[in-house]
Amino acid sequence: MNAHLRRGICPALSQPIATGDGLLVRLTPTGTTMSCEAFAALCTAARSCGNGVIEITSRGSIQIRGLTEVSVKHFAAAVAGIDVAFCEGPPVLSDPLAGLDPQEAVNVGAIAADLRRAIAAAPLGVDIGPKVSVAIDGGGMLHLDAVAADVRMRAQASSAHLHVAVGGDAETATPIGAVAAEHAVEAAMRMLRVIAAGGPAARARDIVAMNGAAALSSLITDILVDLPRPPRRAAADTLGVHALRDGRVAIGIGLAFGHAHATALEKLTHAAADSGATGLRTAPGRALLVVGITEHSAERLADIAQRLGFIVRADDPRRQIVACAGAPICAAGEISTRALAPSLAKAAIAGPDAPMVHLSGCAKGCACPRSTPLTVVGIEGRCGVVVNGSARDKPLVTLMPEALPGALSRCADGVRRLRAGDESAAEVLSRLDRAQIMRLILGEAPRA
Ligand code: SF4
Repeated sequence: MNAHLRRGICPALSQPIATGDGLLVRLTPTGTTMSCEAFAALCTAARSCGNGVIEITSRGSIQIRGLTEVSVKHFAAAVAGIDVAFCEGPPVLSDPLAGLDPQEAVNVGAIAADLRRAIAAAPLGVDIGPKVSVAIDGGGMLHLDAVAADVRMRAQASSAHLHVAVGGDAETATPIGAVAAEHAVEAAMRMLRVIAAGGPAARARDIVAMNGAAALSSLITDILVDLPRPPRRAAADTLGVHALRDGRVAIGIGLAFGHAHATALEKLTHAAADSGATGLRTAPGRALLVVGITEHSAERLADIAQRLGFIVRADDPRRQIVACAGAPICAAGEISTRALAPSLAKAAIAGPDAPMVHLSGCAKGCACPRSTPLTVVGIEGRCGVVVNGSARDKPLVTLMPEALPGALSRCADGVRRLRAGDESAAEVLSRLDRAQIMRLILGEAPRA
């Protein structure tokens, strides 16, 4: 098989991946601000070389879809002429407002850049797994707690140290200890070397499961500092206006179901430039940040973004649905998730669950590995409905796609009726038995 058509890899420019709508290229920004001109040029190249669909992933990577064997070369040439840098090698993420955030304890943008240079200068020797990543969090307002990574570091406000954990998001990762900021690159490199030595499929969480956390913590005992685990934080939300260090602001704008057309993104970028923006950054959670504008300009830009179909309000119902590419975009898709998602968003339940519904084209569950109140999974053209589970779990009921919006709407009504206080939908559903949930989905009021 041609090397650039391999599945299961994170395709950089030189390694596009074959999908149902052509070749896909994934670009991981370095976390620095892309000028409006550069981002608009990227969108133009995506429109002229691909099918115009641009995605921003849950980790803030940019995906260009619908390229061909020929046009991918033109796209690569166009990107080479754009003044914007993308990560090569394992993704090293920093918080999306690194260097601009008045609340950050450490500007980790410089540490992330040093780590990328260290990886490039001293290759990890063997094939590191394509999904291995590092998250370095400066302790600011748009933190990376929800982003899973093999190696994660979090700056602590009271000291120039970073807390190290491995194999998960902030909730699930195994804590290791803390290192001084000047030792962060060395600590990450030592752990990445051991992960790489395990081969392309090795992940930090597997090493911990097999050999315990000591297999990784013992690598850095000489630079470990005994500091308490940092406290939990409220979830970060990219949407909205965020104050920056220089007195200006950034505005977070979401892509509905994680994708937008290049034309809409070009219009948004031109409006950002007209507002005097320094540029744009991508952010975890399928969002963009327009940075370096005034509060007044942010209001105007929010209006324009909303008219262009982007998400600017925290209570936008489209945020309740997370959907993968699905059929026909993904060859493995059994249902057209992107066609179904807008009608499901109208029926979703506003509440503390985010997302409320995971719409998955197949049981792989790419868009959301964790449990959601309702997971809809494609099975031979039909929709399996899993309650409080993931796409890999056994569906409670299977429906035709056209029956899904009605079923979800009835379920949402039922949850609203049965909700006590500020209970989440997941909590309401967890106290109902199978028969009660079936009655909710199929339209009969459950007996309490
Ligand atoms: S979950 Fe299945 S259908 Fe959806 S993107 Fe992943 S492989 Fe494709």
